[in-house]
Amino acid sequence: MGKRAPSTERMNLLYSNDTQGNYPESWYSATTQHLNAFPSLKGSKKYDICIIGAGYTGLSAALHLSKLGYSVAVLDAHRVGFGASGRNGGQLGTGQRLNQDELIRQLGESNADKMWHLANDAVNTVKEIIRTYKIDCHISPGIATLGFNSKEVRELHQYAEYLQKRYNYKGLELLSHEACNALCHSKKYTGGILDMNAAHLHPLRFVFGLAQAAIKAGAHIFEQSEVLKLVPGNVNKAITKAGEIQSEFIVLGCNGYLGNLEPKVAAKVMPINNFIIATEPLVDRAKSILTKDIAVADTKFVVNYFRLSKDNRLLFGGGENYSYKFPKNITSTVLKPMLEIFPQLSDIKIDYAWGGTLGITRQRMPYFGRITEKILSVSGYSGHGIGTATHAGKLISMAINGQQDGFNTMASIPIKSFPGGARYKSPLLILAMSWYALRDKLGI
Ligand SMILES: Cc1cc2nc3c(=O)[nH]c(=O)nc-3n(C[C@H](O)[C@H](O)[C@H](O)COP(=O)(O)OP(=O)(O)OC[C@H]3O[C@@H](n4cnc5c(N)ncnc54)[C@H](O)[C@@H]3O)c2cc1C
Repeated sequence: MGKRAPSTERMNLLYSNDTQGNYPESWYSATTQHLNAFPSLKGSKKYDICIIGAGYTGLSAALHLSKLGYSVAVLDAHRVGFGASGRNGGQLGTGQRLNQDELIRQLGESNADKMWHLANDAVNTVKEIIRTYKIDCHISPGIATLGFNSKEVRELHQYAEYLQKRYNYKGLELLSHEACNALCHSKKYTGGILDMNAAHLHPLRFVFGLAQAAIKAGAHIFEQSEVLKLVPGNVNKAITKAGEIQSEFIVLGCNGYLGNLEPKVAAKVMPINNFIIATEPLVDRAKSILTKDIAVADTKFVVNYFRLSKDNRLLFGGGENYSYKFPKNITSTVLKPMLEIFPQLSDIKIDYAWGGTLGITRQRMPYFGRITEKILSVSGYSGHGIGTATHAGKLISMAINGQQDGFNTMASIPIKSFPGGARYKSPLLILAMSWYALRDKLGI
């Protein structure tokens, strides 16, 4: 029998499903030219800003801060893009994670309207970074949201009309039952909306491109350098096993992998795991799944999301769990929802299966936090992080540089702590999420 990991490692999402410094065996990893390893931190060093986490949040902050002339160090426990940023569904969605009508109800018209415009900036920021730094990450326009019955489709259509009326947003096409079935060959869906301003991309290639852009702008990256402790003070310190960074500011971009490094954030941001499979290339059968190169997400609470890859595989995401460990068999976990949507693929081989950890909040909106005046943290994107996290990095850089507006608008969302505190928040979340997953199964 293999040796069990020590319990501290089993309870640490940085290591409980992965080994140090290795990317998961995903289709993304197999189709990306990997970056050379960056050194790990040794000894004591001084920078203006120390950023913890080399995902979209941390690297975008590093890029924008370096461009403003700050000296920046980025530390990651594993490698660049090791976290959710290198493993996700690749959907760059329009808007905030919550719908605008819901945001208006919760935060009032003025703040909700500002958030709509910030969300548009987020999508544009990603597109602009890709364009400026010529990042070859297969970006392609179009995300469809599809519903399972006439009530859901009516609500999607009403929401599209609402966005057009309130924000003059014209990117959305209403899909009738017929148009939906012409686009996506699943009998389950009865209509939806198609957003051609949204896009999908290869997430690992994007995060590698972001890292290269940050390096070019002057940032230093240290890999395999887990921060074990933060020491706030006039000079903040981030301590690793073999060194420390002293800096005026610390930025936390650890999202679902934060653990208890910062308890105030840990109380508000809960890690959950989500899974993706990649089929073998479907060759000429690809068009019998999707007739356009768009991505799809559906209206389930445990959302199914999918698209075709450049080499004509179906990349299908679905299923989630709330424990420290991924399921033993990720393929069968995701195959079940995939075959419910596409029973015609029952003979298809699955070549890759992987999982990742993301951070969610109770309100399903990100937590923009000031831990101290000079320790900033953004996380809890709740599955909507490609645009929002990349943009958060930019808003962090602006806040540090004295332009607080964008950061403050996002920080005005009163993110509540999970009930049960650090010890019991997880069991309570499992209960709540299992109830919603059961409602998906029962179709209520
Ligand atoms: C399976 C899956 C599918 C998803 N699909 C989508 C999608 O289609 N669209 C979308 O918008 N979003 C999606 N998301 C969410 C999105 O990927 C995240 O919101 C986003 O990547 C968060 O970026 P980040 O930089 O904040 O965190 P991450 O990319 O998770 O990076 C955090 C980094 O912090 C490091 N770290 C943590 N603790 C320490 C420490 N103590 N010391 C040093 N380093 C540390 C980790 O090693 C990690 O590299 C998905 C997520 C998953 C898991």
